[in-house]
Amino acid sequence: MSEHQVEQEDVEQEEAEPRPSAEERRAWQAAARRLVRQFPDPVLKNPASDVAEVDDEVRRLIDRMTDVMSTAHGVGLAAPQIGVSRRVLIYRGSEEEGVRVLVNPALVERSEETEVDTEGCLSLLGGDLSVPIERHVRVRVAGLDGEGQPLEIEAEGLEARIIQHEVDHLDGVLITDRAPTEERRTALRELRLRAG
Ligand SMILES: [Zn+2]
Repeated sequence: MSEHQVEQEDVEQEEAEPRPSAEERRAWQAAARRLVRQFPDPVLKNPASDVAEVDDEVRRLIDRMTDVMSTAHGVGLAAPQIGVSRRVLIYRGSEEEGVRVLVNPALVERSEETEVDTEGCLSLLGGDLSVPIERHVRVRVAGLDGEGQPLEIEAEGLEARIIQHEVDHLDGVLITDRAPTEERRTALRELRLRAG
């Protein structure tokens, strides 16, 4: 083994989670393309409607979303991505918190400070496409939890980014709509070539 490989291994061991292999990533993307509505499905462009009551039907929806997110190894999922145009999103919180649920979420505060980072989306080539997106660094979001109880979350960094991405889905907005012009053109070309 060369020295270079040894160094790389050290770096990987320091990461919290082992990096998925290319093969694993391809399998997750294939699962996402099978289970998650893909661009240009019109349901992804529709603003979703509010949930009137968190009843058994909504709880079943949340269970289904949780299964799909876990099978596709996503970090977040919005109901329209499984074809249900209602304002429900889930995302992977910290290990203690597990999956977090937000029903009828509203961003009630956004930091002036923003940052740009690359994002992918399970609805765009199963996640195999990333574009740089500018997001607020901190947000406060209000809504209901999976039991219908009022909930407020203050989030920053990656968590804030995921929430903003998923709330966008509920408004019919995709990362291709938010990307800078050049990157948007490149992404749309790639989607035309590889989607379907
Ligand atoms: Zn997405």
